[in-house]
Amino acid sequence: MSIQIFGLPVSRGVAIGRAVLVASSRIDVAHYFIASHCVESETARLLAARDVVVGELSTLQRDLSVDAPPELSALLDVHLMLLHDDTLTTAAAQWISSRHYNAEWALSAQLEVLARQFDEMEDDYLRERKADIEQVVERLLRAMARGNPLALPELRTDLTGSPNAQGEEPLILVANDIAPADMLQFKRSVFTGFVTDVGGKTSHTAIVARSLDIPAVVGAREASKIIRQDDWVVIDGDAGVVIINPSLIVLEEYRFRQKQSELEWARLSRLRHTPAITLDGEKVVLLANIELPDDAFGALAAGAVGIGLFRSEFLFMHRVNGLPDEEEQFTAYKAAVQAMQGLPVTIRTVDIGADKPLDRLSANELRHDHSLNPALGLRAIRWSLSEPAMFRQQLRAILRASVYGEVNVLVPMVAHLSEAQQTIECLQRARRQLQDAKKAFGNVKIGAMIEVPAAVLLLPKLLQFFDFVSIGTNDLIQYTLAIDRADEAVAHLYDPWHPAVLSLIGQTIQQANAMHKGVSVCGELAGDPAFTELLLAMGLRSFSMHPSQLAAVKQSVLLTDVAKWRTQLETILLSETPQVACAAARSQCNVSSVPETAASGGAR
Ligand code: PEP
Ligand code: MG
Repeated sequence: MSIQIFGLPVSRGVAIGRAVLVASSRIDVAHYFIASHCVESETARLLAARDVVVGELSTLQRDLSVDAPPELSALLDVHLMLLHDDTLTTAAAQWISSRHYNAEWALSAQLEVLARQFDEMEDDYLRERKADIEQVVERLLRAMARGNPLALPELRTDLTGSPNAQGEEPLILVANDIAPADMLQFKRSVFTGFVTDVGGKTSHTAIVARSLDIPAVVGAREASKIIRQDDWVVIDGDAGVVIINPSLIVLEEYRFRQKQSELEWARLSRLRHTPAITLDGEKVVLLANIELPDDAFGALAAGAVGIGLFRSEFLFMHRVNGLPDEEEQFTAYKAAVQAMQGLPVTIRTVDIGADKPLDRLSANELRHDHSLNPALGLRAIRWSLSEPAMFRQQLRAILRASVYGEVNVLVPMVAHLSEAQQTIECLQRARRQLQDAKKAFGNVKIGAMIEVPAAVLLLPKLLQFFDFVSIGTNDLIQYTLAIDRADEAVAHLYDPWHPAVLSLIGQTIQQANAMHKGVSVCGELAGDPAFTELLLAMGLRSFSMHPSQLAAVKQSVLLTDVAKWRTQLETILLSETPQVACAAARSQCNVSSVPETAASGGAR
């Protein structure tokens, strides 16, 4: 039977494929694909863990004292029987050979299948045996973690084809939640779509999903409970709809829409190398947001004229051997700078905390946040200033990379003048350290992210310390409206059109322009064509977004007459419903198609 689930649309397009459920186990389980030639060794790892657990349980049973309750021995019998049952380890081995899952993932996937079967049993006693399976799987996972916690088999990294043996069916990832760093791991994987139960539109998981340019729906509540391994799933990333086991007619309809969306995409991508100039001749800079140095190639290919936001914290996540040192960071930043071939690269200092915590393994010696409200806790610049040696190390790496091209440093979540002051001091000290070490470094501009209302209210003073600002609308909305951006329960209140939000954005742009300081928007708003004209009318000329959003925003720039829009600005900002006012202004101000000379990439 076909079922529809509704969630939040976070990444455009239609995906159709088989569900791959990433179970939420009580033990943290890594999910990755292994290379084909590792199937045998990975299966051996699973079977070795089974033998270890069989050994442990047999010893336990043998050593049971005579007065131990008979139920205990019976329980151990059941667990041993499960360990030898084909439905557990043999079936998990099947997931390894057919799908190339790592052993832990294969086990948790099989646990998911079995748990559902138990849930459906009529008999209470049998239904409760699910707990036994869970305990056995936990023991197996622990045995594997003890066996070799850090050595990962070679990961499969190819981008084409599906990992199942037949290589014909696209796969869709379904999970309760996916941490941003895990999502990044899937960057080089084979999934064609994502669905999660939790998360808001601008949670970092959603942001990374968008950067993959793969249809995704988050906040779909019960999705991971309703969808089963291998179900056929359709994701409509524009409407936020997930359809499970669709009928043939529905499937056909979505295949048609998938084709249409691809055609539209191909049409828009013809604008890739067209200069972004408005109808009335205003030049606009369209930059890219990236998470890893390699993303710079995609940014360049999409027509970005620089990197407006390099989220450097992703270099600090999913680490096996501690945090990256100065050399490793220098190599990464230099790679991004060189990939951009002379175009500017803005590196944001680490924005650790909130929904991007450090791995426990890497963070063992460092302060990290256990607070109830991590978004209000030790994150971003607060974290960096609490670890000054590490902060200077990052600044030294960035300064050294600036020898290879134009580099800007961007500081996240500044709210206090003292933070600005301390940041500048850290930068000066990092320069002195490099001088003493006789290491080459270049000039960098330094900017502040405007992400909290306090920063807007303090802007003229703050700008005495900085060369430019970049408005992080994702956090600015979160902190202005007091809405957790990652919480789907309040997602309906996370409103970028809120008049207070627009007013703060407008003030920032206007004041920065008045003080002749650079101003850009690098939050998700910059990549949403629904806001392009309004931001242009506010005076914004620099937008930074996922590379996949560049073409649509450029189309909007090409169609905008800024002078006409400026006449509508006050009405829109004073309106109680700015979104409606903006739509009305659009019907008055815009032409409906890109002029031929622009679409063909001609000089303007
Ligand atoms: C923002 O807050 O708008 C931003 C760009 O930073 P991040 O999404 O990484 O918090
Ligand atoms: Mg932010």
